[in-house]
Amino acid sequence: MKAITIAIDGPAGAGKSTVAAALAERLGYVYIDTGAMYRAVTYELQRTGVILTDAQAVCRAVDGLTVRISGARVSVNGGDVTAFLRTKEVSAVVSTVAAYPCVRRLLVQEQRAMAQTGGVVMDGRDIGTVVLPDAQLKVFLTASAEVRARRRWAQNRKAQALTRAGLEELKEAILRRDRQDSEREVSPLRQAGDARLLDNSEMTAAETVGVLADWAEQVMNHVH
Ligand code: C5P
Repeated sequence: MKAITIAIDGPAGAGKSTVAAALAERLGYVYIDTGAMYRAVTYELQRTGVILTDAQAVCRAVDGLTVRISGARVSVNGGDVTAFLRTKEVSAVVSTVAAYPCVRRLLVQEQRAMAQTGGVVMDGRDIGTVVLPDAQLKVFLTASAEVRARRRWAQNRKAQALTRAGLEELKEAILRRDRQDSEREVSPLRQAGDARLLDNSEMTAAETVGVLADWAEQVMNHVH
């Protein structure tokens, strides 16, 4: 069967990474987590002390930066940064970094190169609209803000003790990031005109993967 390209976009905490990784595994495809690439750039800028509101400094710092994804590992200039990408510090400012056109140019170029061969499931915010406008299957995955915050909370809970207050704080942080991602000028978070919408508020991850796998199969049967 012909290898297709699958684009999955949506707001924070909709379960994109979990579902996209499982779908890729099921199809024998490569999974590319573009959010991890924006996080990697953010971490690198923080590590080197760049002022994130200084556009010139940010663009100077990312000029010539090499961000690579290989399986679940992400590297910057050859150094593995995977362990540092999901911290509160990175999550709080990643949307500021992702709004810079120079940062997006760098990463979009790499993302397109990785998808060239097909057989790819890529998730992010602008995959169906900007990065891979010709993807054969586009999905906009969403869930209610309450459910999304709970999922993130449950994920984090494994690593640290969280309280009810922690849940509220997380919900606010998610909503703030969604707002920033939706309102930015370059490549805002938006459902592509030809994307299928899936609200998985009432679905498990496995059920969501099942729906996407069915859609992928339908598409593959029509691609020659
Ligand atoms: O998917 P994840 O939550 O890890 O993404 C982190 C951030 O990276 C998003 O909130 C968004 O600001 C940015 N991002 C983006 N475009 C993508 C993927 C992520 O702007 N394709």
